[in-house]
Amino acid sequence: MNADETGNDETGNQDISDEVARQETSGVTRRGLLKNGLAVAGSVAAMAAGAASARADVSADVRADVSQPYSPLYAQTGDSVGGRKFRAWVSRGEGHGRTTLQELALRPIGGRQVVVRTEAANLCYTLSPAMLGITRAADQLNMTPERRARVAQLNAMATVQGHGGVGIVEAIGPEVRRVKVGDRVCVSGTPQCGVCYACVRGRSDRCQFLGPANIPEGMTPVADMRDGTPVYMNSQIGGFGEYMVTVEEWVVPVPSKAPAAQLEVALACTSVAGLGATTSQGVAVLPPSANVAVMGCGPLGLSAIQGARIAGAKMIVAVDPIRVRREAALKVGATHVLDPNEEGEHLVDKVRELTLQENPSLWGGGIYAGPAVQAGGVDFAVEAVGAEWLPPALERGPDPSGILAMRQTYDVLHSTGQCVLTSIPTGDISFPGVTFALSGRSVHAGQAGGCSPLRDIPKFASFIDNGSFDPKPMLTAPIPLEKVLDTYQEVVRRATILAVLVI
Ligand SMILES: [Zn+2]
Ligand SMILES: [Zn+2]
Repeated sequence: MNADETGNDETGNQDISDEVARQETSGVTRRGLLKNGLAVAGSVAAMAAGAASARADVSADVRADVSQPYSPLYAQTGDSVGGRKFRAWVSRGEGHGRTTLQELALRPIGGRQVVVRTEAANLCYTLSPAMLGITRAADQLNMTPERRARVAQLNAMATVQGHGGVGIVEAIGPEVRRVKVGDRVCVSGTPQCGVCYACVRGRSDRCQFLGPANIPEGMTPVADMRDGTPVYMNSQIGGFGEYMVTVEEWVVPVPSKAPAAQLEVALACTSVAGLGATTSQGVAVLPPSANVAVMGCGPLGLSAIQGARIAGAKMIVAVDPIRVRREAALKVGATHVLDPNEEGEHLVDKVRELTLQENPSLWGGGIYAGPAVQAGGVDFAVEAVGAEWLPPALERGPDPSGILAMRQTYDVLHSTGQCVLTSIPTGDISFPGVTFALSGRSVHAGQAGGCSPLRDIPKFASFIDNGSFDPKPMLTAPIPLEKVLDTYQEVVRRATILAVLVI
């Protein structure tokens, strides 16, 4: 028996027992309340039945109108966009010259598709090979025959380049609920379906839709070239065109009214990763008053520096071989900058020394602090270097593979520090086994910085609105659609910081 059945509370709480007794004498028992509740529920059910019969009439009307096949819980669809012309950078085939500016015609949309009128999109370094037709010998060697065949198949498909941006929803398929026509959105490089194995475990950075986005079987043509060639969107989203045609899972509403170029600086794929690594707490928590190191001061590293500052870091050491990037790092919040070419093999020791200089008292506790503590090190580090596609036009770093910087990111940690790795190196990395297992340092894989797009991207937009994120030192120059390919010659040489297409 439980308390509800007896009208008694088995905890023996006197106050409750007194109240029960009072209710018994007043004729208001728990059992009575339950009975009354059922009676009320019955009348609610009767009302609902009446409403249902009324709804049946409405449904008949709605069924007759094929333009409204869904309940008002679903957003209204926009005007049909099928056949509408737009311009976009389309890649097809191999090598130099594979990317051209084309006039395309949109196909009709359906299901959960969303058409977004592009306001701005970032020229991500990762897309340099796709735009310029560059291949690396090392990558070719490491590919399995199956992978090579798949890449050849993808390269043969006409694809609008770009992987995300900000814009205004122009049209939606009948099943879309997340946004409506006219909403300002970020088309995220990382999807978030909300229901897959990863999403329900709070790891939308690994959403199920991330993988199939770029395999031939997972892609749907969304437009046609003048000669009838079907056209796909890179990563199901595109970006370097007047329209992005995507699917609901990639779309995040952002209520910001900030100028498009500034908003895109904070919401670019790289910035989402940098801000995600430092402020989302998706894979690692940047502790208060932390000493932080950021390896690499491109758009990802600079946004990680801004995120670390926003999260309340005490010291931020930024490392990059390119002078203008170190200068930008100081403008957005780095307290110290180091040139890895100048520091050479002493780079890790230098970062450790800086933490001891900044925090002499931090290491003073205890009768014997131990060698690990005496050696210093940072609490939190972000790696944002990656492999080179072509040698930079400005200062070149010590290791074109990106592996050295990744290893140094681990080595600058103190004995309980944690690091987030965000870039794409070439080759393998190794660690001394005992240190890796027992030193107390943690390594986190940081696709999109571990962020949750629907939760975090609106927050990153608010960083622009409230002035806590400074886009100006990162924004190289807004460029028009016609200049995207030419600008990629600078992007691939790391001569820009963050180039943004603005339409
Ligand atoms: Zn990117
Ligand atoms: Zn998911």
